[in-house]
Amino acid sequence: MPLSPDQQSEIDEARAKPRETLRCVAPGLEAALYTAHPVLDHGFVRVIDYMGDDSAICQAARVSYGRGTKSVSNDEGLIRYLMRHWHSTPFEMCEIKLHVKLPIFVARQWIRHRTANVNEYSARYSILDREFYIPAPEHLAAQSDINRQGRGTTLEGETAARVLEILKADSARAYDNYLTMISDEGQQGLARELARMNLPANIYTQWYWKTDLHNLFHFLRLRADAHAQYEIRAYADVIGQIVAQWVPIAWRAFSDYRLGGAQLSAPELAVLRRMLKGESVSEEGSGLSAREWREFHALFD
Ligand SMILES: Cc1cc2nc3c(=O)[nH]c(=O)nc-3n(C[C@H](O)[C@H](O)[C@H](O)COP(=O)(O)OP(=O)(O)OC[C@H]3O[C@@H](n4cnc5c(N)ncnc54)[C@H](O)[C@@H]3O)c2cc1C
Repeated sequence: MPLSPDQQSEIDEARAKPRETLRCVAPGLEAALYTAHPVLDHGFVRVIDYMGDDSAICQAARVSYGRGTKSVSNDEGLIRYLMRHWHSTPFEMCEIKLHVKLPIFVARQWIRHRTANVNEYSARYSILDREFYIPAPEHLAAQSDINRQGRGTTLEGETAARVLEILKADSARAYDNYLTMISDEGQQGLARELARMNLPANIYTQWYWKTDLHNLFHFLRLRADAHAQYEIRAYADVIGQIVAQWVPIAWRAFSDYRLGGAQLSAPELAVLRRMLKGESVSEEGSGLSAREWREFHALFD
């Protein structure tokens, strides 16, 4: 359970006081506002606030004086048109603010997405919790033979047990030494900002992360993709479920045109055209590199 009883009661209290508003609300998102969606072994994602819904996208696209929505099918057609033709600014009219608890090595990948506002828990000010990400056995994998950035087969038996033991022991030892070194009440020691430097990258941190729907879709396209590292993908998948509750029409358009769609280069398109005309195209005659050829075929497997 990633939340302490105190944290849970703060959330319950926030949820116990509904407020009336003239602003549009997304019923699917209201149902889970503030609650923690668990990710990995100690992490979570919580929606703290949001602005707009599907109608806000149409409202901005139509530069409307009022709500700006028409019939559901009309709005859906518009949103799908905008997505299909990369008309992205109406999606920037929706914003979401998340509270995320995540291992530091995941945070390092996440923070590369610059088009967001971030405020992180201060380990100069506070003592970090004894919480480390330890992969579940099915995610303990060897280095991939074909992808230098990826994983291969799952480790088994004694090898898996030994790796898990090392991960746990190193985390525990580093944290014990952190507490030994640190300045705390009645204990003269190293400043928190220095004592943290020996902690491993699987320790958890937390931040508030605010972004707009256009940039969130960009994040999800990269991080919910099968090529992304499993640990950040786990967060992207949960955020995807949240977005589906928030802006269901935009989510369907994004799933169809981006997440589940594919982009072809001009040479790939030329190969596809030749194939559709009934020509048997070989790798040598395709004009594609071996890797491009492999990736092209993987799209249709
Ligand atoms: C599978 C995968 C592997 C990766 N491997 C590596 C790696 O080995 N090493 C590594 O360093 N990174 C790696 N990255 C990170 C990657 O290069 C990007 O930094 C990260 O995905 C953020 O993407 P972004 O810049 O498009 O996002 P954002 O920072 O959110 O930017 C969104 C868009 O805004 C525009 N933009 C933002 N800032 C600028 C700017 N300063 N100048 C111009 N345009 C800007 C760009 O169009 C950009 O696409 C990897 C990412 C993925 C998904």
